[in-house]
Amino acid sequence: MQNVLEIVTWYKNNLRDLPWRSTNDPYKIWLSEIILQQTQVNQGLKYYYAFIEQYPDIQSLANADEQEVLKLWQGLGYYSRARNLLKTAKLVADKYHGIFPNSMEEILKLPGIGQYTASAILSFAYNLPYPALDGNVFRVISRLYNIRLPINEQKNRSVFLDILNEMIQGVDPAQFNNAMMELGAMVCKPDNPKCDICPVSTFCQAKELGCASQLPVKAAKAAKKKRYFNFFYIKYQDGFYLIKRNESDIWQNLFQLPMIETNTEVDISDVFTMLQEVVQLLWKELLVSGAHDLCYLNSKKHLLTHQEINARFFEINMKEKPTFKLENCIWVNADSKQNYPLPILIEKFLLSL
Ligand code: SF4
Repeated sequence: MQNVLEIVTWYKNNLRDLPWRSTNDPYKIWLSEIILQQTQVNQGLKYYYAFIEQYPDIQSLANADEQEVLKLWQGLGYYSRARNLLKTAKLVADKYHGIFPNSMEEILKLPGIGQYTASAILSFAYNLPYPALDGNVFRVISRLYNIRLPINEQKNRSVFLDILNEMIQGVDPAQFNNAMMELGAMVCKPDNPKCDICPVSTFCQAKELGCASQLPVKAAKAAKKKRYFNFFYIKYQDGFYLIKRNESDIWQNLFQLPMIETNTEVDISDVFTMLQEVVQLLWKELLVSGAHDLCYLNSKKHLLTHQEINARFFEINMKEKPTFKLENCIWVNADSKQNYPLPILIEKFLLSL
């Protein structure tokens, strides 16, 4: 197809020099793809270099400690990606002797690897003809062929894949996938596509119809779930408590300040009352000496993909170092806190003090 040749030629002349494009090492390609999910290239680059420096190959990552990996990941969000990174590294090291599988069936069994990432690894590392359908490619195909099906509905995926499977035949799969993604990222942008410099403008239906700005179509998303977190910065001198989050929620295995979650937004005075009740139940020692001051510090709204976190921060200033113990709770100081992976919301709070 002529339009495919135009896109690939344009790519060869205009590609950005990115480190994962000059390798066919499946470890580095996989790592870059996981980092770049939900992350801009500019932000992802520094994490990619940091991971390659600390874990130059899959075996070194497989030997890593989860807390260490989460710490290196800190700030990227979507921490399940980091936990799955480690699980997959261990699996590949143990079950596949350190060599990434090169079949779609096997690769899809690895944690955190879906259809897109599997196709990217198989095409970039093994040059197999699997089209990589990410958000950029959805947009380009929607516009080129004036497809008005919502791209965020799973059932429509096959329509786009059928077109791409035809396009990828007869060209270099790695170059084709890179070219499609690059065209979407650099030319066929979400707002103000650069149709005047686009290599396939003469083939593009959206350009001809003047409807590029209406594409791609997306179905309305469900509203974000609102959550209300009241965090307690229980401190003595430069020390304070951190608590490890439980297994089945956001920020799994990360550390945060001790917290009470409420179902709705409650008055600050009610939080004080609730805290006193919780403290009496759990941390009697806090009250024994009466040795603390409690005050409200500030509030922050933090947006995740499906949740809106409404956070409030309170300070409990201890007059002596507390000795009480609570499951998963640790006492840290200014130096040792660097060792614990924190949600960015908590990291920013601590930096603001
Ligand atoms: S002509 Fe415009 S809308 Fe069509 S693919 Fe190119 S940049 Fe996108």
